[in-house]
Amino acid sequence: MALILQKYGGTSVANIERIRKVAERVIRVHTAGNDVVVVLSAMAGVTDGLIQLAYQITNDPNRRELDVLLATGEQTTVSLLCIMLESMGCPAISLLGYQAEIVTNTAFGRARIVGIHADRIKELLGQRKIVAVAGFQGRDEQGNITTLGRGGSDISAVALAAALKAYVCEIYTDVDGVYTTDPNLCKNAKKLQKISYDEMLEMASLGANVLQIRAVEFAKKFNVPIHVRSSFMEEEGTMVVEEEEDMERLVVSGVAYSKDEARITLTRVPDQPGVASKIFTPIAEAGIVVDMIIQNTRKSGLTDLTFTVPKSDYPRAMAIQKEVAESIGAEQVLGDEYIAKVSVIGVGMRSHSGVACKMFTTLARENINIMLISTSEIKISCVIEEKYTELAVRVLHNAFGLDSISENF
Ligand code: ADP
Ligand code: ASP
Ligand code: MG
Repeated sequence: MALILQKYGGTSVANIERIRKVAERVIRVHTAGNDVVVVLSAMAGVTDGLIQLAYQITNDPNRRELDVLLATGEQTTVSLLCIMLESMGCPAISLLGYQAEIVTNTAFGRARIVGIHADRIKELLGQRKIVAVAGFQGRDEQGNITTLGRGGSDISAVALAAALKAYVCEIYTDVDGVYTTDPNLCKNAKKLQKISYDEMLEMASLGANVLQIRAVEFAKKFNVPIHVRSSFMEEEGTMVVEEEEDMERLVVSGVAYSKDEARITLTRVPDQPGVASKIFTPIAEAGIVVDMIIQNTRKSGLTDLTFTVPKSDYPRAMAIQKEVAESIGAEQVLGDEYIAKVSVIGVGMRSHSGVACKMFTTLARENINIMLISTSEIKISCVIEEKYTELAVRVLHNAFGLDSISENF
């Protein structure tokens, strides 16, 4: 007997029929003698719909109230699942984030979990009840409802798995595992049997939204094994685990992309000490996260400085930079929303050279211009024009031999 944590994403609970399937699966695992804690997302599209409702009122909805609103999506699904389980004769109880004592800081919309008091859940499990916890939400020290950021049910699941010392954290979604690239974009994508936390972390932070980044960070920190699998079939999915020796067989194990960033360039900026600080301080003060930065020096003592920000922050960042440009005497502020970041990822890069070169050559062969580059020990990212995203992913996937690895590598 083990404690199994199962998290079901929005598509897995999109309607009553699917909730019935979830209930059947949960009951099977429970009847086999295991304790089961289920974490649910809102039904597919519901969180988006709730956000739209608030934005019909104002472009700047009160953050606290927005979290109260968004938390209702998950309240609906946990209650429906428990009604379903009870109707099937299986004792079950739903808990909202605050009832499960998931305590967060007060950063509404992107709260971080600071602690979980799991005693109540343990007591309920002791009574052989299935416990369904609303994902994506918690409460701060004052009792305000908070949410954890988009895709945050993954974080709830992993954090609960860690707090309860679950045997495994199963993430049920609409694909049957983690692939070498997004299987919905590239038909040659191959399912990975295993992936290390570090690679998954890079994949997630570079756009593979199959797992939320902070959920992977949490899993790595507390060594929670994650099993990503499909709620529509029985086959095993992908295990996300500690790096193992045999994982280094592939130099590149995945290709990721993101269309969530925009590029800003300040031209003819005076090349003097303190200028970068003047450019980036107001951006940081506005809570905007800068990803990539490049600076070109010209002979004239002037420089061009380019950086990327999340697309959702682009209008604010442009407005800030127009003021900055005036104050520091830069010539122009140019912006481009139609960019994409494509990345190749692999722990094998640590011990292999030539990966960057191969990436650049592959993109050049397709006449794809590279605007920005960034690297880490286990990834290389290039910013390109958005319209080439699919082509770039496809050719890189092929160039690094991922088209031809066997299924279930
Ligand atoms: P859920 O609602 O279950 O949380 P998500 O939409 O958040 O599901 O995540 C699943 C999606 O992640 C898939 O439909 C797929 O398009 C996307 N995805 C992106 N990159 C990958 C990848 N490398 N492997 C698997 N899925 C990926
Ligand atoms: N319902 C939330 C969202 O759509 C959280 C989640 O699904 O993980 O972002
Ligand atoms: Mg998700």
